[in-house]
Amino acid sequence: MKSNSLVIQPFRSAARGLAQVPGSKSITNRALILAALADGETLLTGALFSRDTRILIAALQALGFTVLADESAHTIKVHGLGGKIPQASAKIHVGNAGTAARFLTAFLALAPQGRYELDGDEAMRARPMAGLLTALRDAGCQALKPDGSPATHFPFTLHTTGKLGALKVDASASSQLLSALLMVLPLSNGASVKLDGATVSEPFVDMTVKMCAQFGRPLSKNAEGAWRCSQPGAYKATSTYVIEPDATAASYFIALGAVAGADSRIRLRHYSAEGLQGDTAFAPVAAQCGAVLESAPDALLVKSWRKIGGGDFDFNAFSDTFLTLATLAGLADSPVKICGIGHTRKQETDRVLAMATELTRLGIRVEPTVAQLQADDSLSSLKIYPDREALRQKAAHGPVSIHTYEDHRMAMSFGILGSYDLFGDGRPWISIEDPGCTSKTFPTFFTALAAQKSKFVTITIDGGAASGKSSTSRLLAERQGLLHVDTGLHYRSLTHALLQAGARVDQVSLVESLLQKISLGSQIIGQSSRLTLGGKIPDEAALRTPEVNAAVSQFAALPAVRNCLLHYQRSQVALAQNAGFAGIVMEGRDIGSVVLPQAEVRIFLEASPEARTQRRAAEGQADAVAQRDHLDSTRKMAPLICPPGATRIDNTTLSLNEVVQQISALVHTAAR
Ligand code: C5P
Repeated sequence: MKSNSLVIQPFRSAARGLAQVPGSKSITNRALILAALADGETLLTGALFSRDTRILIAALQALGFTVLADESAHTIKVHGLGGKIPQASAKIHVGNAGTAARFLTAFLALAPQGRYELDGDEAMRARPMAGLLTALRDAGCQALKPDGSPATHFPFTLHTTGKLGALKVDASASSQLLSALLMVLPLSNGASVKLDGATVSEPFVDMTVKMCAQFGRPLSKNAEGAWRCSQPGAYKATSTYVIEPDATAASYFIALGAVAGADSRIRLRHYSAEGLQGDTAFAPVAAQCGAVLESAPDALLVKSWRKIGGGDFDFNAFSDTFLTLATLAGLADSPVKICGIGHTRKQETDRVLAMATELTRLGIRVEPTVAQLQADDSLSSLKIYPDREALRQKAAHGPVSIHTYEDHRMAMSFGILGSYDLFGDGRPWISIEDPGCTSKTFPTFFTALAAQKSKFVTITIDGGAASGKSSTSRLLAERQGLLHVDTGLHYRSLTHALLQAGARVDQVSLVESLLQKISLGSQIIGQSSRLTLGGKIPDEAALRTPEVNAAVSQFAALPAVRNCLLHYQRSQVALAQNAGFAGIVMEGRDIGSVVLPQAEVRIFLEASPEARTQRRAAEGQADAVAQRDHLDSTRKMAPLICPPGATRIDNTTLSLNEVVQQISALVHTAAR
């Protein structure tokens, strides 16, 4: 076996938890441009940090924009200037980033009297730019070679006028040439763009148009086929713009549901079939083969597949995902035919030949055969004949080593196949050569795959008022893919409802009868489970009024109120498991002691009284913290205590990040 290879350990149990899929590159780079052209600050969340996006971020910074990237939080804060570009001259290197190269060139054309020196890597110097540069030249924006003649490729110096007018673009070489112009249209009065000929990759043009609309400037096509913006102006800053996870990368986690243990629940956050990416078309194909996919608000839940069914599939429009199905085809219950993939023979590698070669190496019969594919490069489909027995025979003496041809998608799709427990005893049967090649789009793929094996973890965080439970729990949930439950809100919700119904805390039988009529439910919003009363989430502002603050601890001391919530709170664990979370973090006063005393990680948070009063004051809340704590810790039923055996953390002088890191370390040990 080669030293640079990774033996894939099959899943012996269910796959669980949030899939750690990176953000889409295409969306990240479009969002950066649109946010920079918007009138104010936009926070991009779920952003991808890769070579191409870093290049665009650095270029915007060099042009004078404030762009604050936080790689660990996957966020980028962009201060848009409504179409103004602070620096009238700059030197920018775009590496080999196609989107950055094209998008920036059109973006810079908006500067009234700019002079920008642009260059790229050797490979970028050979990539098509002519269509875009010619279109801009017609508008008076000159791209000149170092010798002063008109440029058709990098490098060039761009002399801009800030005007666009009626443009015609030949985008037959790349749809990015058109997308680049579409994004700047609204910033120039009366501008329009017409396609000269056809373009490739229509789905990416659709993505651009949809994103322009999301940033407040819809484009439309007139009868002559010219794009224009009927209400031109700066884009509108959206306080938070959520970048979708990369749909191609997500396809591996959809496929994982076919091979991991029964009862798998994989949660793809922010993934939507109606999203912006063409490769979301993989999900319905997978469903046709037997995938069990459930859409949840703001997520797709992948469950164990019913079967891996065969059939004929045309992958032409979403061909990056054909490899994901092709590897699963080795395990299917009937042959799988994949067509429309001729163009992938000229991608990172000849993908059709590479796939056929490696499936054959595993003992799987494919048509056309490897020899036929080698002889005729016009062949553009693959028929794969499943055969588990043949797979077992080939791997009988140890893992079969899969060549990856420097193709990240080969490595990832065979990584999923190797996750299947072929022998039923956990014996590995596939190893992946050069696993590092996934760095092109998904550097952490194999770690993210292994993370789906983690045990479901239950974490409790108890503590007095303003001890930092909520901010700690929220950040921990976000970082670890956990469901967050704030039980303080449960008590506040009941208190509010009881007060509304006219109940006082001394009217115990009235309280009991009112509680019997209340129907409790849950709704997952992002990472948090929220209590619903009669199907609705109570308005949070109404739960934090001085009246509720003053009454909540008294109602919370009533056994009827506590009993009403105990069963409900315990049921949240199953909710988190079924919704595909990696675990649950529940915060309150009695969670580690009464509600979930068996939790693997139990924390008791403390802070000095001064720090806590200051925190509440900073939140603008009138809240007698000490008084509530006194009531909470002296009540008869489930008083606030540090649960025996819990880890005490005093966060008076610790940062939120430090506290979350301490707890994360405990969670990692528990999840192994
Ligand atoms: O956490 P928060 O300050 O919102 O909680 C409001 C009140 O709810 C607490 O002061 C306490 O009286 C009650 N509570 C409780 N048990 C919990 C959570 C909150 O008694 N597990």
